[in-house]
Amino acid sequence: MKLLMESLSYLSPDGVALVEKAYQYASWAHSFDVRASGAPYITHLIAATTNLAELKVDAQTLAATLLHDVLEDTLVVEKELTEEFGPEIVFLVKGVTKLNKYQFDDTITEQAENWKKMLLAVVKDPRVILIKIADRLHNMRTLESLSRQKQEKIANETLTLYAPFAHRLGIYKWRNELEDLSFAILYPSQYNEIKAKLDARVESNSALLTELEEQIKSKIPQTEIPYRILSRPKNLYGIYKKMERQQKPFEQIEDILGLRIITDTVEHCYMILGIINANFKLVENSFTDYINVPKSNLYQSLHLTIITSNNAIIETQIRTEDMHHRAEYGIAAHWRYKIQSSGGKVKGGSNEDNLDWLKQFLEGQKDVKDSQEFINMLKTECVFTQIFVFTPLKKVIKLPLGATALDFAYAIHSDIGDSFVGAKVNGKMANINTKLKTGDIVEVFTRKNVHPTKHWLEYTVSYQARSHIRKYLRMKGGDF
Ligand code: MN
Repeated sequence: MKLLMESLSYLSPDGVALVEKAYQYASWAHSFDVRASGAPYITHLIAATTNLAELKVDAQTLAATLLHDVLEDTLVVEKELTEEFGPEIVFLVKGVTKLNKYQFDDTITEQAENWKKMLLAVVKDPRVILIKIADRLHNMRTLESLSRQKQEKIANETLTLYAPFAHRLGIYKWRNELEDLSFAILYPSQYNEIKAKLDARVESNSALLTELEEQIKSKIPQTEIPYRILSRPKNLYGIYKKMERQQKPFEQIEDILGLRIITDTVEHCYMILGIINANFKLVENSFTDYINVPKSNLYQSLHLTIITSNNAIIETQIRTEDMHHRAEYGIAAHWRYKIQSSGGKVKGGSNEDNLDWLKQFLEGQKDVKDSQEFINMLKTECVFTQIFVFTPLKKVIKLPLGATALDFAYAIHSDIGDSFVGAKVNGKMANINTKLKTGDIVEVFTRKNVHPTKHWLEYTVSYQARSHIRKYLRMKGGDF
């Protein structure tokens, strides 16, 4: 508790008092509860709340995190909690409270319904998902007292849903930890192997990184441009995924170590880029400007890959302090400003844009009855990887990775999707199952009297396409 109280210095005295009151209440409500490890239950609540205090969220969110298991696990009922803490905090607590599990026939339905319920609350107030992930982060850190089977179940859900969700929100710091903790449980031998190799590589490359840092410092006078340099190894699961994707052993994975140059202004980012460009060899085509064109989670940085004098390859990112904070805590950091500037209410502006995808997703899934399909689509949707393709008139269309021309057709309009007969990709006729890639120019052909068939579900990954196809099939009397 001491650690938590110390981390609250950014709050007003009223805010601190609210957190203290929630702490007292939670301690009382959970006074007879212990965790699987035997530790008093309140330790879990304090730890989850401390995770969130690192993001400097508002006092209501912290209070709700302390209270997040009160309705699920204690005898306290909603009415009492509302009288004590008001509707806003109770909304957050209810958002993370699971449905009564006895009403479900099987675990997949239970999982799907709990996610649906939570996401509907998230759309209304994004702070709900922060509490849920902070909660999961602490549970993942303390899994050891659970049975092997339970550990695997929780790790699996964390790796396929919570970590991608954290990624989608841009909370990379949490994503990395969630991934690595799950990875250790689900693939222990791969985890240990990569960890040993990474430790060895960090050790043997530390001299190289220091040298590059010195070279950069000698070219960019810190008196003229204020900056600091951080080095970071990639997280273990990130390395593993890359090995799988590229079908390469650890030894051939190149950008495992990286540098970050953090400065004060956007102007200085480009000045540093210019100096590096002029003084170092870069991997061809390695430059990406995410400052000018931010990722859709608002991530911004300049990316480039430097080749050192002894031919080592170092992935480098240049960004401002603000961008750095957003890169670690993502949209969460952004909400803070929103919450402060709107007097405690989360509303409007960019955070709405940020959750648009979730709103659209839930809208598209409204009629989906199949729980497994819902969970699968949610996994696809949370995995942030998107591709950008073009119409013949050069309009950009965003699609999930793995999308086909049929997904593209539905992304343009459901009528175009429904009457799809074929497509040209970059001027050539393409198969219905050809996967598109970023930069493709896609031209769709339609015909009247053509209609979706159930095979179309095999050729689509986007929820727009799949929900429209299913809608049509259901209309025709099928059970989809
Ligand atoms: Mn909990």
